[in-house]
Amino acid sequence: MSEQRAESGIRGPEAATVAEPGEDLPETPDLHGAYPRLDDAQIAVLSALGRRRATQPGDVLFREGDRNCDFFVVVAGKVAAVEGHGTPEEHVISVHGHGRFLGELNLLTGEVSFSTAVVVGAGEVLAVPADRLRELVARDPAIGDLILRAYLLRRSILIGLGAGLRIIGSRYSPDTRRVRDFAARNRLPARWLDLETDPAAEELLAQLGVSPQDTPIVIVAGRLFRNPGNAELAAAIGLPAPGASLASCDLLVVGSGPAGMSAAVYGASEGLRVIVLDGTATGGQAGTTSRIENYLGFPSGISGAELADRAMLQARKFGAQFAVPAEATSIARVDGQYTVRVGEETSVTAPMVVIATGARYRRLEVPRMEYFEKVSVYYAASQAEAQLCRGDPVVIVGGGNSAGQAAVFLARHAARVTLVVREQDLGEYMSRYLIDQVLRIPNVRVMLNTEVREPIGDEALEAIAVEDRRTGERQVLAARALFVFIGMAPCTSWLADMVDLDDYGFVRTGPEAGVAAGAEVGWRRSMLETSQPGIFAVGDVRAGSAKRVAAAVGDGAMAIRLAFERMRPT
Ligand SMILES: Cc1cc2nc3c(=O)[nH]c(=O)nc-3n(C[C@H](O)[C@H](O)[C@H](O)COP(=O)(O)OP(=O)(O)OC[C@H]3O[C@@H](n4cnc5c(N)ncnc54)[C@H](O)[C@@H]3O)c2cc1C
Repeated sequence: MSEQRAESGIRGPEAATVAEPGEDLPETPDLHGAYPRLDDAQIAVLSALGRRRATQPGDVLFREGDRNCDFFVVVAGKVAAVEGHGTPEEHVISVHGHGRFLGELNLLTGEVSFSTAVVVGAGEVLAVPADRLRELVARDPAIGDLILRAYLLRRSILIGLGAGLRIIGSRYSPDTRRVRDFAARNRLPARWLDLETDPAAEELLAQLGVSPQDTPIVIVAGRLFRNPGNAELAAAIGLPAPGASLASCDLLVVGSGPAGMSAAVYGASEGLRVIVLDGTATGGQAGTTSRIENYLGFPSGISGAELADRAMLQARKFGAQFAVPAEATSIARVDGQYTVRVGEETSVTAPMVVIATGARYRRLEVPRMEYFEKVSVYYAASQAEAQLCRGDPVVIVGGGNSAGQAAVFLARHAARVTLVVREQDLGEYMSRYLIDQVLRIPNVRVMLNTEVREPIGDEALEAIAVEDRRTGERQVLAARALFVFIGMAPCTSWLADMVDLDDYGFVRTGPEAGVAAGAEVGWRRSMLETSQPGIFAVGDVRAGSAKRVAAAVGDGAMAIRLAFERMRPT
């Protein structure tokens, strides 16, 4: 768990460097809107917020690992975004000329920079302080959305390139898997070097003087961490890890999926001091979804990552404070307020709490699942998982919309996708629009009336044994990854017996909920309030909820109105 300076990275996907003198690097084409050009009027608006300065080739505007660096617009000349600057592995990610701007999502989120900006053609830049940029993005819809959209795309380009963090560890190591999952859930660009199969991994370890026993290691902008915990990694990257500033607030939101984000946006915009805790990453289940097609206002769908990042920035714009990773472990009532503990050392106290901890996919009850979960079983199908199973055969188990979406998405990356469904009809739990999509894809095979019996493989997954429920016939399907989407279990263990739960562990609200001992006489519970006054439950964790993004967002907004009613009874 120690950190040192890493002298070396590895070679990235583009071979060009900025070191060759006199070379005229061409501007990176703007194929998808990731590198738009600002017009003169937009540059004039930005000029009022910053200052111009002349640049010479070789000037470094910001470095990998820097936080809160300025926002730069290239007025004249050229600037390259470079990874591994000054190392033998240096390579260019993109090159920008007049009217283009630098940076990516990190400038808005406060994370470290994943590249170095190096001037490659003399000219002039406009430098705007990051906090001014954030204000502008929050108040100017035209420029704000142009920048935000470009930054979201740039982040997904970085993820696709495998830039950013270097994770070196074995596919059989649970800690390697933990670190990879942490990066994926937090939408951090990362490249994993598998100690078992990648010769570059061993070479790099030798260069760094690290023995395989000390893996996984993570390199963040040249800093080397040996088997870092998630909190240590979060702090190194600049995620809003919980600190001493978490003490009290008006409204504590536990969980930052769509329901918690919505409560945070509405609460903070109404002037409440809001703290949001999340044990893993902002965005919840929605953040792990490749494309949400039925959320109002997005006719061509929106990726879960984009929805999550936009929501988080919106909540922060209104002043909501986030803590990630910050897992709530218990809740207690003290003097009419609630104290939620985060691990051993941190706690937050608030008069009102919104429970938005959602649900997680149930596990398959089959032999050796515990082992394979650490290496080859996934409960999400995002860009990060797609990278890991590129060109491989995969099996998805489940018959609902999540399984269907995963099949559509993974079919673009995997060699073959087999969808294993217990039901005899795909229409039992899956929406019609998805069924149509799934059935049209040539490399997706649907097996109805079928159950998974056993994952097969010595160290990594090699195949899955499945069984026809009617005939008992067994088949073995080649599979390097198993994706499990078989229904949800609520995340309510941290609540112990603080609030009333239904038989499945979901939180009861409104008239369904009992009344906790000690509740004031005559207390009238509102529809999203639990058995405890001032504790609300929203989204998937709530008994009877619709288990949809829109419904979760609606719950979050409604909880705030009800919270205000509780504060100011009429
Ligand atoms: C693959 C997939 C595809 C989907 N596709 C769609 C779709 O197309 N359309 C649609 O409408 N819905 C879809 N859904 C469902 C939708 O994502 C959920 O209904 C929605 O995310 C629920 O939001 P939530 O905020 O209630 O909970 P969640 O999204 O589950 O978020 C809960 C959050 O709480 C955190 N948490 C849990 N326990 C703790 C704790 N003790 N302390 C701190 N934090 C904690 C979790 O880390 C998580 O971030 C999909 C779900 C999945 C998994």
